[in-house]
Amino acid sequence: SHDVHIIGGGLAGSEAAWQLARRGLRVRLSEMRGTGERTPAHQGDGLAELVCSNSFRSDDAEKNAVGLLHQEMRECGSLIMAAAEVARVPAGSALAVDRDVFSAEVEKRLNALPTLEVVRERVDHLPDAGLTIVATGPLTAQALAASIGVATGKDSLAFFDAIAPIVYRDTIDMDICWMASRWDKGDTRDYINCPMDKEQYLAFREGLLAGEKTTFKEWEASTPYFEGCMPIEVMAERGENTLRYGPMKPVGLDNPRTGRWPYAVVQLRQDNKLGTLWNMVGFQTKLKHGEQVRLFRTIPGLEIAEFARLGGLHRNTFLNSPQLLDRQFRLKSASHVRFAGQITGCEGYVESAAVGLMAGLMTAAELSGSFWRAPPPTTAMGALLSHITGDAEADDYQPMNVNFGLFPPLPDVKKKQRKEAYTSRAKQDLGAWLPTISSPAQV
Ligand code: FAD
Repeated sequence: SHDVHIIGGGLAGSEAAWQLARRGLRVRLSEMRGTGERTPAHQGDGLAELVCSNSFRSDDAEKNAVGLLHQEMRECGSLIMAAAEVARVPAGSALAVDRDVFSAEVEKRLNALPTLEVVRERVDHLPDAGLTIVATGPLTAQALAASIGVATGKDSLAFFDAIAPIVYRDTIDMDICWMASRWDKGDTRDYINCPMDKEQYLAFREGLLAGEKTTFKEWEASTPYFEGCMPIEVMAERGENTLRYGPMKPVGLDNPRTGRWPYAVVQLRQDNKLGTLWNMVGFQTKLKHGEQVRLFRTIPGLEIAEFARLGGLHRNTFLNSPQLLDRQFRLKSASHVRFAGQITGCEGYVESAAVGLMAGLMTAAELSGSFWRAPPPTTAMGALLSHITGDAEADDYQPMNVNFGLFPPLPDVKKKQRKEAYTSRAKQDLGAWLPTISSPAQV
């Protein structure tokens, strides 16, 4: 018997299991790989396999949000960060690892915990009772995904992910763009509009047609392609004016500087409650990332745009967390079930592990009957938690890497000093919060 059942031994499940079992709690960790079954992306049976890149991205905790997240996780005794240190390979300021050494190290450390049992089994239903953490990732096996779909309402579980780029608000040139809704309906501040004349539009369309695209992975090719999430380059191929009748439609949008509708527009819509991030409406794309940056910076007003996320298309199973989960990653409709990792709608190895870490700490607090205090929203962990469980717009919830746009803004700090200001505020606030989590020896 066990105190907690964790389903999925990836980045998030392994980290959550570690946080719980090193506090003496009894954990059953169910992982389907090792039974002859694998997700379409996993190559082996090791716990915490890195399915693609071997990098945990920047390790710079002074100027980079993911580097800051590394640091915060280390301070919380993260398994993933400790194993990464052991498996580290040279990669400049990034933290990259030998993936086999990394996975083996995770497994070794977990196996050394006496209250942890790793069971190779596939779980097909959400358990009816008992504290559970579901950490089955973006490629959750079908039967369980269906069971989660039933528990959450079918529409809430996305199976296909078309994502449009997201821009930092303070890198948009508002001397060129303006805020307005079509026909002045709704709140006039609803959209940021970037105007294009005919020449600019035609050149932009040419750029989309010529731009290098990423090819679909074989196993993604069979995934249905919804008309509603057609990539812009596919629309561009359909005809010269397809985009002007679609996401780049200018009708009803008077440019206050000319008093007329432009030939075409690119619209951006607010993406988070803080108002720091804006997504490019209808701009899901399979263009290579470098091409996206180059081409999107030719859009008037976005010449110096910085992107919190670039567009992409791939299969992804994730919940509409802002709507479905409480502030502790628990299903509002079945509070014994907690979610962790990419399935909550965070994006990336580090973010998935960080959510696993927090889910582990929350569950440990719940089991010991102690009050859980969330990390402050000014920290990388807290910003991620706030975004997932409430601050993101539920209507258009999309996976997101950690970035400074998720932090409460620091408008009074000069742009050049802002990154350091974010990280130093975070470090101070994390320091005050750390003593509130139980140390491994206490429980
Ligand atoms: P996972 O690491 O996928 O772990 C989930 C585990 O659950 C797996 O081991 C799986 O076998 C198991 N499982 C699934 N269903 C069941 C079940 N029913 N019963 C029991 N076990 C089950 N992020 C990056 O930072 N860099 C990248 O380069 C990167 N590349 C990616 C490439 C692809 C193709 C995909 C799909 C995602 C990629 N990601 C990348 C995103 C994300 O960071 C990873 O998917 C990450 O592994 C997510 O961690 P997780 O713990 O949530 O899920």
